[in-house]
Amino acid sequence: MNKLSYALDTNISAWTTYLRQIDRVVPYLGDLARWADTLRHPKRALIVDIPVHMDDGKIHHFEGYRVQHNLSRGPGKGGIRYHPNVDLNEVMALSAWMTIKCAAMNLPFGGAKGGIRVDPFLLSEGELERLTRRYTSEISIIIGPQKDIPAPDVGTNSKIMAWIMDTYSMKQGATVTSIVTGKPIHLGGSLGREKATGRGVFITGREVAKRAGVKIQGSRLAVQGFGNVGNEATRLFVEAGASVIAIQDHSSTLFNERGIDVVALNDWQDKHRKIIGFKGAKQIDRDEFWDIHMDILIPAALEGQITLERAKKLNCKLILEGANGPTYPEADDILCQRDITVVPDVICNAGGVTVSYFEWVQDMASFFWSEDEINLRMDKIMIEAMLHIWNKAQENNCSLRTAAYIVACERILMARKDRGIYPG
Ligand code: NAD
Repeated sequence: MNKLSYALDTNISAWTTYLRQIDRVVPYLGDLARWADTLRHPKRALIVDIPVHMDDGKIHHFEGYRVQHNLSRGPGKGGIRYHPNVDLNEVMALSAWMTIKCAAMNLPFGGAKGGIRVDPFLLSEGELERLTRRYTSEISIIIGPQKDIPAPDVGTNSKIMAWIMDTYSMKQGATVTSIVTGKPIHLGGSLGREKATGRGVFITGREVAKRAGVKIQGSRLAVQGFGNVGNEATRLFVEAGASVIAIQDHSSTLFNERGIDVVALNDWQDKHRKIIGFKGAKQIDRDEFWDIHMDILIPAALEGQITLERAKKLNCKLILEGANGPTYPEADDILCQRDITVVPDVICNAGGVTVSYFEWVQDMASFFWSEDEINLRMDKIMIEAMLHIWNKAQENNCSLRTAAYIVACERILMARKDRGIYPG
C-alpha cells in the first residue's frame, strides 16, 4: 500500500524523497557539506532469501532485507517491517530516516531498517514463526547489541521480537535480551514503550503549538490512522481539551462536527478491528477528509499522504507527522508558503525510538525503571530536542524539517569527519 501510494501520487520513490530532503539541507552545512555524500549512500545492505516450510507442505521463498544506512554515531537502530510492498528502495529510505531521527534526538545510534516482502495476515502463526526465525538467522551476520538493534514496525509486534531474541540467543548460546527492543515486558521489554510514539506526538505537538500560537483547548483535530500511534496521540489531545472531528483508517472516514467520542470508538475498534460501522459519527468520502476545516492534523498511517494537491487545499494550522514520510518535499514547500507549521516525523514520532533506547540501556544494565521514570525522561529528551530544533529554525528562517535535518546532519557528519576514513 505504501509503495503504491508513492507510485500513484507523484511517481517518486521513498528513497528519492529522502535524497531530495538531503539536497535541501546541504546548503546549510558549511564545510561539513564536503562529507554530505556519505548520507546519500547506505553503508551496508543485505538481501536474503528466506525459504519457509508452509503448512500445505510446499516450500515458499520470501525476500528479506536489512539495511544499515549509517553507523558513524553508534550501532544501527530501526524496525523490521512485514508488508507485501516492502522492497530495497523503501527499506533504504526508512533506514536513512532512522539515521536522521536518532541524530536529531541525539540518541547514540546510527540508522538501520529491515523488512520482508510478505503479507503477515495471510500466514499461520507457525509459518510466521518459521519465517521470522529463518530471517533472523540470515541477518544475524550483521546484527548484534553493539552492531544493529532491530525493533517492531508495521506488520511486526512484540511476539515477533521475542522470536528474534530467542533465535539470536540460541545461536550465541546465551540469552541476549539487548539484541532487539519492543519485546514483551517479561522478556526485558520496557514499560511505556507501547504508548511512547503517540505520547511523543502529543509532547512535541504541545510544545510547538505553544510557540506557533495554536491553542489545543477547543481545537479541531483530524487524525489519519487509528492504530498504535494515532490512538494514543488522540487520547492525549482529547485529555488536553481538543475535539476530534475526523478520523480515517483503512476502512472508513468518520466525521462529527461536535466531536467524536474516542472512548466509544476505541471499544468499537477493539471488537471489530476497524472503525467502519461506528454509529457516533457520519461516514464521509475518503477524499473529503482533506477538505475539512481543522486546526491540527495528525497523519499517523502511511507514507506519501500529503501530496502537492492536498497541501494546496489543507485547511489547518499545524501538522504533526506521526507516520514516517507522510509529506512529499514539494508539498512541504507549499505548506511552508501557506504558513502551516509541520512538526516533522524525525522528531514528532521519535518517542518510540527514545524509549527503545531506554529499553536497550535497561537490558544492558539488567536494571529496570518504573513507567513514571521512563515517561519523565522521555518527555525531557523530547522537549529539549524540540526546542533545539525550534531555535535552529528561527536562526535559519527555515522549516522545522530543514532545521531538524541541519541538526541531525551536523551531528552525523561531525562524527564522520572526526572518525576519518579507514584506511586513511
Ligand atoms: P498500526 O498498524 O498500529 O496502525 C496503522 C493505522 O493506519 C490503522 O488504523 C490503519 O487502519 C490505518 N491505515 C492503514 N492504511 C490506511 C489508509 N490507506 N488510509 C488511512 N488509514 C490507513 O501502525 P502504527 O504503529 O500506528 O504506525 C503508524 C505509522 O507510524 C507508520 O508510518 C509507522 O512507520 C509510524 N511509526 C510508528 C511507530 C511505533 O512505535 N508504532 C514509531 C515511529 C513511526
